[in-house]
Amino acid sequence: MKVVFGFGMGVDSAAILVEWLDNPASRTFALKDLIVVIAQTGDEWLETAHLVEAYIFPLLHQHSIRTIQVARASNSQRDGIVILDDTTRPTTCYIQGAYRLSDEMVEVATVPQTGGIRKCSLKAKGWALDTLIADLTGGESFVHIIGFEVDELTRMMRDMPLGLPGRIPFYPLTEWGWDRAFCEDVLWKKFKVQWIKSACVECPYALASRAGLARTLPRYIASPYEAFKTLTMEYLAVAANPRQGLIGGAQLFDALLDFEGGPSLLADFQEHLNCMPWAIYDVRRAFRAKTDDMMKPANAVRSMTRIATGDRADMVRLLDYMVTHHLPSGVRYENGRHQRVWIHERNIYYPCPEQAFVTGPALAIDKVNDSFAEAWEAALKGPSQLSFV
Ligand code: SF4
Repeated sequence: MKVVFGFGMGVDSAAILVEWLDNPASRTFALKDLIVVIAQTGDEWLETAHLVEAYIFPLLHQHSIRTIQVARASNSQRDGIVILDDTTRPTTCYIQGAYRLSDEMVEVATVPQTGGIRKCSLKAKGWALDTLIADLTGGESFVHIIGFEVDELTRMMRDMPLGLPGRIPFYPLTEWGWDRAFCEDVLWKKFKVQWIKSACVECPYALASRAGLARTLPRYIASPYEAFKTLTMEYLAVAANPRQGLIGGAQLFDALLDFEGGPSLLADFQEHLNCMPWAIYDVRRAFRAKTDDMMKPANAVRSMTRIATGDRADMVRLLDYMVTHHLPSGVRYENGRHQRVWIHERNIYYPCPEQAFVTGPALAIDKVNDSFAEAWEAALKGPSQLSFV
């Protein structure tokens, strides 16, 4: 029976591989049956790739373990997956993926969201892995190894019934009683390195706690390339919607402003932005009302289209010109970190429209929700039962 191990490139899964290879009694299968699978989101830290290439791939190579790296081909499942590498002698960690999670985010001017299910992970990792595993096993039963730590029993219980009867799950860390600290210790003893948390550079979960911020902000300072990629994504998302931000609605930009080395990084980030093509976007949202409560919004539908492109200075000048010569007097014009002029602002009653012209990097594609036209018309009309006395 095939044994499939999803190697997430982090502490837990690296420790499992080390234990299996250094201590054969820890496993109940032959290494020839083991397939290591890695899902690449396209946005992993370079540091992670270095650790994997320097310490884990040589071990897999030495033991001739089949290692497959996979990524999704596009944002549509119809396009399937891309096999980045399939070898028993892995050397290169293809963190650039194929269609990157960051591509998907900037195309629609948003950031990965926290709360609820981790949609980004399910799409960029889970689905690619499930598709690959289905291809590999062809419907035959297989053992699926998952690296839940000993204190993650709730996650383990939730995972257990998935995919039965063909998928037989197994959780070595809970079996061995290993927690994260123990895994880190195993890796330290073996390689004398502090294994870092694996994640996308733009992962909001990595920024969601004080400890996460303390771990992650220095990584941005040390790696401007990865910082600029993340900050550009956030900048564009905030341009389209000031309520966005990578830290639960607050902005990474602000966290870096107050962090040692942050202001200088952010000054360089402005230079980075200046070198990009820019656009003026017309961003509209049509808010629907919650059933039976016109003071609460239900879902909103959005339209985001470019109305001009050029360099940054031109786009800022053009928006200034529009405000002075073409737009109704009295519109609110924000001219700070972002340039944004509000044509319609959100009301306290719903349905209502929201519309702004904003400048930003020309990375988002024109996108109009299917039901936008109808919802916009209703939003412009406002609540039907509203009357003033
Ligand atoms: S690492 Fe974070 S951003 Fe990347 S897929 Fe997972 S949850 Fe989403």
